[in-house]
Amino acid sequence: MEANFQKNTDGLIPAIIQDNGSKTVLMLGYMNEEAYNKTLETKKVTFFSRSKNRLWTKGEESGNFLNLVDIKLDCDNDTFLVQVNPEGKTCHTGSYNCWQESKNQNLNFLLKLEETIRERKETANSSTSYVASLFQKGINKIAQKVGEEAIEVVIEAKDNNDILFVSESADLLFHYLILLQAKGFKLQDVVNVLESRNK
Ligand code: AMP
Ligand code: ZN
Ligand code: ZN
Ligand code: ZN
Repeated sequence: MEANFQKNTDGLIPAIIQDNGSKTVLMLGYMNEEAYNKTLETKKVTFFSRSKNRLWTKGEESGNFLNLVDIKLDCDNDTFLVQVNPEGKTCHTGSYNCWQESKNQNLNFLLKLEETIRERKETANSSTSYVASLFQKGINKIAQKVGEEAIEVVIEAKDNNDILFVSESADLLFHYLILLQAKGFKLQDVVNVLESRNK
């Protein structure tokens, strides 16, 4: 699909800038065709600035560039969603985004980890991968590991060592994700049950 730069008489398409990591909206800018092409070439988000009346590469003075991950057109080809990895603060006021919001603390990393665990299950090279070796030992062994880690969490909960408590919690969650995978479930299946209880 082609972007429709002629929809507006000024030849500009609004570009919603989204942090690819946190999915938070960072700012809004406008792109003409030249700005769009330069963004694709340099992988640094470049707008047409209406106030400067020229191409403006975000970060050109501050060094706070927006590194391009992906550009998507909306349903009728007149708005961009630009996904980026921001270098530093996006707003010139020094704020993370232009609405003085903070980063969404979402849990996307858990989904990436789940995907890595799934790959280990498929490729199953137990000589190099701890996760693959667990899958090879089978569900009983994995379930037992979850039990052990749960007990370690209980023990650390009674102590006053926060670092150990969080570390054992991470072990538990990690092995629980492996157990879910071994049983053929996804984290989403569990979240769905929790959500249905929350009505
Ligand atoms: P920068 O592109 O970060 O080097 O900033 C250059 C100039 O662009 C700043 O001095 C501001 O005038 C303007 N500017 C920077 N970031 C934003 C933003 N997120 N929204 C609007 N104007 C901005
Ligand atoms: Zn549209
Ligand atoms: Zn701003
Ligand atoms: Zn542990």
